[in-house]
Amino acid sequence: RRVEVPFEKHRIDPALIDERATRVVSTLQEAGFEAYIVGGAVRDLLLGHRPKDFDVATNATPAQVKALFRRAFIIGRRFQLVHVVFGRGREHEVIEVSTFRALMEPAEVAPVRGNERTSKAELVGKSHAVDASGRVLRDNVWGPQDEDAARRDFTINALYYDPARQVVIDYHHGIEDAAKRVLRMIGDPSARFREDPVRIIRVVRFAAKLGFEIEPHTRAPMRKMADLLANVPASRVFDEMIKLLQTGHALASLEELRKQGLHRGLFPILDAVLDAAHQHNGREKFIQLALNDTDRRVAEGKPVAPSFMLACMLWHDVLHRWDEIRAATGAPLMPALQEAVDAVFDARIGDISGRGKLGLDMREMWLMQPRFERRQFAAAVTLVEQPRFRAGFDFLRLRGQAGEIDPELSQWWEAFSLADDDERRELVEQYR
Ligand code: ATP
Ligand code: MG
Repeated sequence: RRVEVPFEKHRIDPALIDERATRVVSTLQEAGFEAYIVGGAVRDLLLGHRPKDFDVATNATPAQVKALFRRAFIIGRRFQLVHVVFGRGREHEVIEVSTFRALMEPAEVAPVRGNERTSKAELVGKSHAVDASGRVLRDNVWGPQDEDAARRDFTINALYYDPARQVVIDYHHGIEDAAKRVLRMIGDPSARFREDPVRIIRVVRFAAKLGFEIEPHTRAPMRKMADLLANVPASRVFDEMIKLLQTGHALASLEELRKQGLHRGLFPILDAVLDAAHQHNGREKFIQLALNDTDRRVAEGKPVAPSFMLACMLWHDVLHRWDEIRAATGAPLMPALQEAVDAVFDARIGDISGRGKLGLDMREMWLMQPRFERRQFAAAVTLVEQPRFRAGFDFLRLRGQAGEIDPELSQWWEAFSLADDDERRELVEQYR
C-alpha cells in the first residue's frame, strides 16, 4: 500500500540535500516523468544525516534519462543505470539514476546455468535470469514504483522522497522501522537472501553503521544461507566488504559477523582476520589497532584508503609466508617478500581485476617495510620522497604501536621526514 508521508511526520531537512540531486529530479519531472530521491540517501536524511551520495529513481528508461542531460552515461550490465555527472576533477559529483524495476514472477524466471557471461543479445532481452542456486543474474525489466519498492532489500531502504512536494512515499512501513531502529527485510527473508546472498553482508553492515537491531525473522535464516555467498562473484563480495570496513564501525561489523558465525568462508580475508585457527602472535592486536584507526578517521571525517585497511588485515599473513619461504628456500629478504606477497594475493584476494591500483598500493606498502630498516642517507631521502611514503610510514607506525617493531624506528622516520638536510645527516650519523 502506497503511503504519502508529509513533512510533519518525516521532518527531512531540505538543507541536507545536494542541489544537484534536486536538479536531476526536477529535470525529470519537468520532462513529464516521475522521479524521486531514493534508497540510502532517504534513509540517511530521515535519520538527520547528510547523505554522502544520492540516488534517483524514475519511470524514465535509461535512454530517456540520458537524453535529458548533457553529461550522462549508461553503465552496468547486470543492472543498467545512468550516471549524471556534474562538475569536473575532484569536485565532480555523480548522481546515479535508476529506472523503476519490475518484481520477478517465479514463472518468468528462466534459469541460466553456469557462468554470468551472457551474450549481448541476451543482455538487452527483457527477462530476468537466475543461476542454478536461484541467484539473480540480470535485472533490467522496467516496472511500476510499487514493484521497484518491493524489490529493494530493507524497509528503510525502500523510501522515495520528492524534494518538490517534500513528501516521502513509503510502501513497507519504512518510516516506522526507522523510528523503531530495526532492519527488516522486505518480503520473505529466506527467498530474498537466496536471490542475492550479498544481502547477508548488507544487513550486518547497516546494523553496525546505524546501530539498528536486525528484526528476528530477518536474522533467522542468515547463518544457514551464508554458504550461498560462495556462488557470488568475488568482486561483488569484495565491494560489499570494503563498504563494511569503511562504515566507521569496522570493528563492530566484524564482531557482528563473528557473532553470527558468518565469517568463515564468507570472504577469504576475513578468514585470515577472524578465524581463531589462524591466529598467531600479534595478529589480532595489529588488526584491532588498524581498524580502530580506520574507525577514528571516519569519525573525524577523514578519508580511509581501502588499500591501507586491506594491507593491514593481511600483513600477518604476509609475514607468516615470508618466514616460511625464507626458511624453506633460503631466499634473500626481498625476493622472499615478493613471493610471499604474490602468494597472499592469490590466496586471499583472488581476482580483483579492474582494481589494479588498489593491489599496487598494497604491494608498495608491504615492500616498503624492509626499506625502513636501512637508515642510510641517500636511501632514506629516496624513500621519504616517494609519493606513497606517507602510507608506508603510517603502516610502520602501526607496527610500532602493535609491538611488532621498536616504536623508536617509526619515531626516527617521523623526525627524518620533517627534518632539513643538516638535521637529516645528523639523524643518520646517530645510527652509524
Ligand atoms: P550506502 O549509504 O552505504 O550507500 P545504500 O542503501 O545507498 O547505502 P547502495 O548499495 O548504494 O546502499 O544501494 C542503494 C539502494 O539500492 C539501497 O538503499 C537499496 O534500496 C537498493 N539495493 C542495493 N543493493 C541491493 C540488494 N543487494 N538487494 C536489494 N536492494 C538493493
Ligand atoms: Mg548508496
